[in-house]
Amino acid sequence: MNMPRNRRVILPENIRKNMRALCGMVPEGVGVMAVVKADGYGHGSAPVARAALEGGASMLAVASVAEGTEIRKSGIQAPILVLGAVSRDDVDEGTESGLIQTVCSPEMVEICEKSAKEHKKQTKVHLKIDTGMGRIGVRNPAERDAVLRALAHSPHVKLTGTFTHFSDADDGPDGMEYTEHQYRIFRDMTDILDAGVLRHCANSAVIHRRPDMAMDMVRAGISLYGYPPVETGLPLKPCMRWTARISYVKEIPSGVYISYGRTFLSERPMRIATVTCGYGDGYHRCAGKAAEVLIRGKRASVVGRICMDQMMVDVTDIPDARMDDEVVLMGSSGPERITAEDLARWAGTISYEILLSAGSRVERIYDFSQEF
Ligand SMILES: *Cc1c(COP(=O)(O)O)cnc(C)c1O
Repeated sequence: MNMPRNRRVILPENIRKNMRALCGMVPEGVGVMAVVKADGYGHGSAPVARAALEGGASMLAVASVAEGTEIRKSGIQAPILVLGAVSRDDVDEGTESGLIQTVCSPEMVEICEKSAKEHKKQTKVHLKIDTGMGRIGVRNPAERDAVLRALAHSPHVKLTGTFTHFSDADDGPDGMEYTEHQYRIFRDMTDILDAGVLRHCANSAVIHRRPDMAMDMVRAGISLYGYPPVETGLPLKPCMRWTARISYVKEIPSGVYISYGRTFLSERPMRIATVTCGYGDGYHRCAGKAAEVLIRGKRASVVGRICMDQMMVDVTDIPDARMDDEVVLMGSSGPERITAEDLARWAGTISYEILLSAGSRVERIYDFSQEF
């Protein structure tokens, strides 16, 4: 049987539909940037970029020049913004790939100018403003003006946008207050720029909570993948399933230990299934105590510690469970479903990290017809 031990199934149709829904909710004339960094949050950057552009995205965002080049190589011509700061090491590749680079110091502008001049090209840049995230960006009007002066002396570099990033937008009322504070600083810091300079600040949380902060463009990351970080009325759907299979089923009496460390001891006769996935595939070992999987439309609890390549689950109440059955680790099966948020809760992390956790041996396939 030619089935992989476990695999992630990507649903590009849901990405396209999610982008369509996001484009439909932003104010008229506001663009939506698809954030496809980190290999499209684990879904594959080029396929996600393609689906997002079909859904109406007007720009793409990546973390690094290498990520941008990979998308260019797949033949995509849409504008691509590199969110990370420009560096000497890869500025030339960024210039050649026609990426929009991010600057936040006069030195960075000079690096772009030198590269663009050598390549006889014009490089577009966005100015990053740090309004309270403490990561990258100019922090005050004096630093901003120094960058603007450098730009004035750089004929091969054109400022086409400016942006900031919120640190607390998915938190409670307190977080929203801090977001307001960051937003005010951003407005004050950018009001001297030409009207043609694209202003963008909203991440997923702000897109849903504060559509009035959309400015010229919003940056949709996690919501594009179906996991809005806050309540939203939009019909956003997850775009990644994760499935494994049962490799072995056994009946055990009471008093039998399961897995490393003997943390689980059966207290009654049970049926135990072994599943072809472990932390070597990116299943969080620390999720073990709370984790569940789906088999034949029913929930089965993980028993004992999760191993590197395998885990055991209790199928006592799923009497027809048998070798080779599909095991849904993330996705739906019959009436039940497990989301990246469930896995994140069990593992004590966030949905973002679950989507990105697949180990290098996990196969990824694209399915245009399956549902989550
Ligand atoms: C990752 C990132 C985003 C997307 O954030 P989400 O919460 O996934 O929507 C937006 N802007 C910047 C600068 C980012 O680094």
